[in-house]
Amino acid sequence: MKTYLPLPRCFASPLFYGAGLAALDTDLLMIEEYLKDKIIIAEDDPITELLLKSTLEKWGFDPTDVQDGQEALKLLRTAEEPRIVLLDWLMPGMDGIDIVKELRREEKENPHYVIMLTSKNEKKDVILALEAGADDFLSKPFDTDELKARIKAGLRLVGLHIQLKRAIKSANKLADFIAHYDQTTGLPNRVLFTERIDELVNNGQSAALILVNIDRFKRINQAKGLDLGDLLLNYFGARLQECFEEEAVVARIAADEFGVLIPFDGGCVYTTDEIINFLYAKAQRIHARMAERFPIDEGVNITVSIGAAPVTCEIALEPEEFLRRVDTALRKAKALGGNQTVIHDRKMEEEVRQRYDMEKDLAEGLDNGDLRLFLQAQVRPDGSFHGAEALVRWMHPKKGMISPGLFIPVAEESDLVLRIGRWVLNEVCELLCKYSREDFTLSVNISPKQFAREDFVDEILSAVSEKSVSPDRIILEVTEGLLINDMDEVAKKMIRLSRAGFRFSIDDFGTGYSSLSYLKSLPISEIKIDRTFVKGLPGDEDSRAIVKAIFLMAEALGMEVVAEGIESEGQAMFLSKAGNVIYQGFLFSKPAPAGDAIEHWLHKDK
Ligand code: C2E
Ligand code: MG
Ligand code: MG
Repeated sequence: MKTYLPLPRCFASPLFYGAGLAALDTDLLMIEEYLKDKIIIAEDDPITELLLKSTLEKWGFDPTDVQDGQEALKLLRTAEEPRIVLLDWLMPGMDGIDIVKELRREEKENPHYVIMLTSKNEKKDVILALEAGADDFLSKPFDTDELKARIKAGLRLVGLHIQLKRAIKSANKLADFIAHYDQTTGLPNRVLFTERIDELVNNGQSAALILVNIDRFKRINQAKGLDLGDLLLNYFGARLQECFEEEAVVARIAADEFGVLIPFDGGCVYTTDEIINFLYAKAQRIHARMAERFPIDEGVNITVSIGAAPVTCEIALEPEEFLRRVDTALRKAKALGGNQTVIHDRKMEEEVRQRYDMEKDLAEGLDNGDLRLFLQAQVRPDGSFHGAEALVRWMHPKKGMISPGLFIPVAEESDLVLRIGRWVLNEVCELLCKYSREDFTLSVNISPKQFAREDFVDEILSAVSEKSVSPDRIILEVTEGLLINDMDEVAKKMIRLSRAGFRFSIDDFGTGYSSLSYLKSLPISEIKIDRTFVKGLPGDEDSRAIVKAIFLMAEALGMEVVAEGIESEGQAMFLSKAGNVIYQGFLFSKPAPAGDAIEHWLHKDK
């Protein structure tokens, strides 16, 4: 049975419920009740005043009375909300007509409801009073029923006004809440978080800045559903708050990312090193707390990646720049495999700059046609040519040939990898079209980003049909990492392509995701044993055991095995004894320009 603990602290935030939303529904009757002690009688004639007062009191009102015009004006000017005033026309100090004119001239927020009270009751007097700004008119001596009806009309109008004003105030509060707070956790959002950093920087205060990201949160969402994902985020936010003193700002910055800003008192008294030590200690505490099981569903275990940076007045930067720094540190922690802390330093800035320059250069290189297609042969144990793997190279105009190991990871971070993928595929199709009578396959590396595109399948299908290439001559190499995300989507695409005749190979097998269940359920026809396992052959016992196990598994599943990175006879020998294998490695051929490589292999045996 699923049990949920009481909601964590951030649920309890009053703001979570939308900043006084209840006021929007304030009952008009309640406002009328509220107005009962807010009626003003401005009347200098003691008898009329007494009569009015006692009549109103009989009906449950508690009016305030003044006898002087100036006093009445003062009272109305200082009232916080609109009042109903029974205003005598003729009074000492200031007469009713002047008062009402003055009020109408000044008032913007509080339109008081003025009932002009007078024994002048000719039609022209009524018109004069209304034109001066009075809302209503009551002649003396007054009739109690008429008084009651006129007060009631006033109450309704003033009540409506107050209700509207309160609703606008609530709506503003709500808009402010939505703009500054995250609605799932009730925590401050990125906007408010950035404002807090800004305030702090402007005050010349030092601080510690931390970003915490839940590792593989997407998988939790997929496995447990969005509601439980949201619940986890709530527990997470509450736990994060518990790790810090009250003055720290804990915010939800993005889907699975939280920020913590810890201000230090006393201006710029801490050195950068002191703050860094503090950050490591805090990060350790966060890792420890988040490693405890979360009481959701049957229990959820997570790890987190942490990026941190000191905010000191030694370095005057824009708040967004501090956030960028801490984000760089977090990305690095992620790239190192997650579940760790990285604190921002200068070297990291340099790395970021280099990557940025490379990305810019690469985009230019693509425009200028600086990519080159290389092929590395795949050879059968009898020495015959089986096929080749397409490996892209970048011919930089100044730096010379650059390895894909350097630029593919950079291209992966932008959309450049899609352009590269398209280019390689077209080149491969062109070659296969040119050598349509020959019998060899070409393997193409597919980046996860490329695979994730909605139009991936269509793009591949149209590339082959454009050059009339048979899909069974292309092997698509994907990595295990790809299979972590959205298995259903991945399976659908693979099945469509495999029905069209394409084959799939798992590249760098054994270095990624460890679950093997996908091998059975997906249309995979080849496994590439990663170079790291081949390297240890034939001497290393572990490598031997792993390689043998891979062969057994491949045989059971009816898959082909390609061994990568073969550099010695000893490695080749061991592999050929272990099972049916296709060789790939420097021992047989280094990657070479595509056209030359094919010509060489096709004519080798002739
Ligand atoms: P990969 O797909 O695992 O390719 C094999 C890499 O191992 C190639 O490096 C190849 O030159 C190298 N190699 C082959 N035999 C040996 C050997 O005997 N000894 C040693 N030390 N290395 C060997 P390369 O060409 O630098 O490519 C590196 C990685 O870049 C590839 O690894 C692949 O992940 C990526 N890559 C290359 N071309 C493309 C492409 O067109 N698209 C995408 N998305 N990625 C590509
Ligand atoms: Mg490959
Ligand atoms: Mg590989």
